[in-house]
Amino acid sequence: MDIRLTPEDLELRDRARSFTERVLIPLELECEEHDGLNAESSANAKRAVLDAGFNAINHAKDDGGQGFDLFQQILIEEQWGTATGGLWDIPWRPSISLANATGEQRERYLLPACRGERRDAYAITEEYAGSDPSMVRAAALRDGDAWVIDGTKWHVTSGDVADFFLVHAHVDGDPAKATVFLVDKDLPGVRLVRTPKYSHTFVFEHPIFAFEGVRVGLDAVLGEVGAGYDLTKDWFVEERIMIGARTMGAATRALDLSLAFAKERIQFGEPIVAFQAVEFMLADMAAQIMAAKSMLYRVGWQAARGGTDRKELHALASAVKLVCSETAGRVADAAVQIHGGRGYMREQPVERLWRELRVDRIWEGTSEIQRMVIGNELRKRGHEAYTGWPL
Ligand SMILES: Cc1cc2nc3c(=O)[nH]c(=O)nc-3n(C[C@H](O)[C@H](O)[C@H](O)COP(=O)(O)OP(=O)(O)OC[C@H]3O[C@@H](n4cnc5c(N)ncnc54)[C@H](O)[C@@H]3O)c2cc1C
Repeated sequence: MDIRLTPEDLELRDRARSFTERVLIPLELECEEHDGLNAESSANAKRAVLDAGFNAINHAKDDGGQGFDLFQQILIEEQWGTATGGLWDIPWRPSISLANATGEQRERYLLPACRGERRDAYAITEEYAGSDPSMVRAAALRDGDAWVIDGTKWHVTSGDVADFFLVHAHVDGDPAKATVFLVDKDLPGVRLVRTPKYSHTFVFEHPIFAFEGVRVGLDAVLGEVGAGYDLTKDWFVEERIMIGARTMGAATRALDLSLAFAKERIQFGEPIVAFQAVEFMLADMAAQIMAAKSMLYRVGWQAARGGTDRKELHALASAVKLVCSETAGRVADAAVQIHGGRGYMREQPVERLWRELRVDRIWEGTSEIQRMVIGNELRKRGHEAYTGWPL
């Protein structure tokens, strides 16, 4: 069995690491202190993404993306995930669902989004529909040669910088006809309701948007009427695996910082790393990262290069997201403990990592929802996907 990274993989990982150190990390304190970036920093960062060739890492070269396979994307996102402030979201990754665009939609949305001229935001969640998207009330009714969309979407990540939305709505109010619509933000009837504050500092916002009698053409349907869940599932699978990658990057940085701090912090005449209580925390952090990261790489490799079907990948992506996000949460908590009072200061990266990693157990499906997906797989097909070794 050969589990080495190829020279190309290593080169890509190093390139992503250097981009993170050169472009993202230096923006952390500005982002934390000002709850975002100023226009100049944003513009510079955007240019740096294009210069580094890190725009649309998840799309095909033909569509203006980088054509990286899923494993390569994991290597990149793991590095980006070390940065706090959600700065990993600066390099735009247009939703993978856009790969289903028609020729005209591709010209209008996908290609400019990959180039960084447009930006999308995915709007599914509502006040009464979170874990259970069948409760979505956003409805699309046919009126002649238009669809008319009404609904209110919550937590729309990057909604402040997006100029179009992928809106998950039910045609005729029927959950069996869940459909994704491409909706330009500047259309009449699209209204910013408010921009709530969240626990984490994030480079962009997660506003609430109302869609009030918004008229879009019949060609605004992505995929087809009723394909909403399938498209959203593709998005979830990709995002859940990328959360696995980013949380592993974040956890590794938390361990790195904790080890360095424990070696230099002297109390009772000794570096605190000499105290077994601290050393054991570090040992647990390292061992837990090793376990979760091994799983992430195995699933990523299997998906990209080993061949796995869509259903299986959906089941595996939930396990990756569950284990990596929960592991990273524990690691970051220990990192704060090792740093003592300093660990509670926002100017310290471990504090920000700890606060920011909390949402990874909530968004893109909570940990409970990931367990439901895994349980469903166990009931339907047994445990082979998790316990077997198909490589
Ligand atoms: C910062 C942030 C950004 C987000 N960005 C986006 C975005 O860009 N687009 C978007 O559409 N959404 C986004 N979301 C929404 C996110 O995906 C939802 O918050 C998440 O799926 C949970 O839904 P909910 O908040 O309604 O919780 P609920 O579904 O109300 O769940 C509440 C609790 O009940 C538990 N629960 C629910 N059902 C079950 C069950 N059957 N069994 C066991 N436990 C259950 C949950 O696990 C949770 O603990 C974002 C959320 C946040 C916080």
